[in-house]
Amino acid sequence: MLLEVQDLSVNYGVIQAVKGVSFNVNAGEIVTLIGANGAGKSTILHTISGLIRPKSGKIMYDGTEIQKEKSQKIVASGISQVPEGRHIFPGLTVLENLQMGAYLRKDREQTKKDYQTVFERFPVLAERKNQDAATLSGGEQQMLAMGRALMAAPKLILLDEPSMGLAPIFINEIFDIIQAIQKNGTTVLLIEQNAAKALAIADRGYVLSVGKIVLSGTGKALLANKDVQKAYLGG
Ligand code: ATP
Repeated sequence: MLLEVQDLSVNYGVIQAVKGVSFNVNAGEIVTLIGANGAGKSTILHTISGLIRPKSGKIMYDGTEIQKEKSQKIVASGISQVPEGRHIFPGLTVLENLQMGAYLRKDREQTKKDYQTVFERFPVLAERKNQDAATLSGGEQQMLAMGRALMAAPKLILLDEPSMGLAPIFINEIFDIIQAIQKNGTTVLLIEQNAAKALAIADRGYVLSVGKIVLSGTGKALLANKDVQKAYLGG
């Protein structure tokens, strides 16, 4: 097991955003968390990344408790988050944005190779490598945000709504890329509003509703589940 979240609760002041959530991610899997707006999905990712402290519960990563660690240490240990809304650095070039992703790495030779791998996976980033990242389209910025996270050479990548606001053609490409990332050996925890697409590529999924997990199963089983279809797949 690469990641194990145990009885996690997170509050914002008096708001209980996450209420005793437990789930796990095995090495090599794509696991998705689905659920309506405000269900607590982003809060869980931010807590795993160390950006928010939980009220209670444990997060075990690769056998170590990380819920009290600083986010810098969590990134260095192999967890990389691609935030909702991408948050690329405008004013920096595409290449400089990727360099920010590799900032904590010390393995120079492998880092060099990884730029090549990212440019092969995202040819558009190679074409625009010296361009201000702010000039990229939404889909291209999403690719840059994913490329930047991959430049940290993560064991586990956390994707927060990667398809949000993208044109359909980019959406399909993003889901293909997520599968390619898995094939390359990186474990994926994926949060998506687009439950149909997320479940279609996920090995397993968990359904969150107002801060609690209400259902879990393989991607296939959840796709076929009548309640999931009614609530999250448009009937
Ligand atoms: P979305 O898809 O809209 O991001 P989500 O499932 O990721 O939804 P969260 O963003 O984790 O949900 O929000 C969970 C709950 O916590 C919601 O009730 C939300 O209003 C609340 N919340 C989120 N961020 C904050 C914050 N910074 N301060 C106060 N409440 C917050």
